[in-house]
Amino acid sequence: MDNCIFCKIIKGDIPSHKIYEDDTFVAILDIFAATKGHVLILPKRHAADMYDLTESEAAGLIPLAKKIAEKINATLSPDGLNVLQNNGKTAGQEVFHYHMHLIPRYNGDGIKFFKSAPQTPQDVLEKLAKELKI
Ligand code: 5GP
Ligand code: ZN
Repeated sequence: MDNCIFCKIIKGDIPSHKIYEDDTFVAILDIFAATKGHVLILPKRHAADMYDLTESEAAGLIPLAKKIAEKINATLSPDGLNVLQNNGKTAGQEVFHYHMHLIPRYNGDGIKFFKSAPQTPQDVLEKLAKELKI
């Protein structure tokens, strides 16, 4: 993809700080790090979002995320870590080449991803669970 910033990073046309690379994935430090150690895992093949991943790419992501998170924990000793992945503009996706965020969390860092919401009524949950069942 000619206009994709992450494809350019993967090709080496734009510099980045890589912490991991194999035939399928690279992991880089986020240039606008939400916290110290914010990492992005990218498939080398251009895939716009989660729906675009192959089954094999999808299957490779969690083991790699776990490995990198363990390295972050061993090196930076955060107090927690968020795994975040945005699909679509409304969900906050800004770069349309799939990436999984690993965001180490530190006590008092002030980051909030979700606002608290009122409890959903049982009948609404029951109906929705039927609709979403696979
Ligand atoms: P999104 O909002 O699409 O889930 O996240 C895009 C992420 O890519 C953001 O966290 C942003 O800081 C990061 N990002 C955007 N441009 C660059 C870049 O040129 N280099 C690196 N390393 N990260 C980038
Ligand atoms: Zn791309």
